[in-house]
Amino acid sequence: MRRLQDRVAVVTGAGSGIGLATTRRFAEEGARVVCVDLDEASGSAAAAEVDGLFVKADVSSEDDVARTFQAAFDAYGSVDVAFNNAGISPPDDDSILETGLDAWRRVQEVNLTSVYLCCKHAIPYMRRQGKGSIINTASFVAVMGSATSQISYTASKGGVLAMSRELGVQFARDGVRVNALCPGPVNTPLLRELFAKDPERARRRLVHIPLGRFAEASEIAAAVAFLASDDASFITGSEFLVDGGISGA
Ligand code: NAD
Repeated sequence: MRRLQDRVAVVTGAGSGIGLATTRRFAEEGARVVCVDLDEASGSAAAAEVDGLFVKADVSSEDDVARTFQAAFDAYGSVDVAFNNAGISPPDDDSILETGLDAWRRVQEVNLTSVYLCCKHAIPYMRRQGKGSIINTASFVAVMGSATSQISYTASKGGVLAMSRELGVQFARDGVRVNALCPGPVNTPLLRELFAKDPERARRRLVHIPLGRFAEASEIAAAVAFLASDDASFITGSEFLVDGGISGA
């Protein structure tokens, strides 16, 4: 399927995990992909693989985000899709009783402020075109919370979900769709790092997933490609769960 033929798609966190799988899927679907990452080696490798553009940027910096969308427009003449996906995992002890204010703020900056900035700088291009699709990566924990003490992370993802709903409603008449992607646990470096520190946590998560396994990043990418495409033309402001059933269990 080439549902994104010649669309220009910006992917943040393109160098690893869900962002990398989506970069590949977008390219297979015909998109020109702008790969954004703080990590130069992995981000530029992703861009090289799909013959796309690499932009080194910190998504929590407004200057970097503005420069990213300008670079996408300058290189390819439009901004059709923004997959605002870069994020970090919770600090080691992310219980509300332990998390310090600096750690809390850093998680909000990278996971939530980044999405605010990416939407703020993508929407003007999309409005001018009268069309665009934004997919913001939240998480299943935004919907159901987490018993494993990750308060700064869960709060940041709840913010992403609420912001996506509001923007989806606000910009619907401009042709700009905005959806929150809520993955369940996905087999990526972020998750593996978390579970390496706490194998018991991995075991407990696994037993609660009705499908009985973690997702592969390519399965999340398939949902993102759908939301980005015209196949999802009547979907906006949604919480799009791709979670193996965990939030319903
Ligand atoms: P990952 O660690 O494999 O990839 C994240 C990428 O984001 C990396 O390439 C990293 O360099 C980049 N990045 C980090 N901070 C950045 C910054 N400030 N500016 C630009 N780039 C930055 O993670 P992943 O598992 O693919 O997660 C992607 C998104 O999915 C995150 O928002 C995460 O919270 C969310 N998520 C992941 C899971 C999971 O189980 N893996 C579940 C639900 C939601």
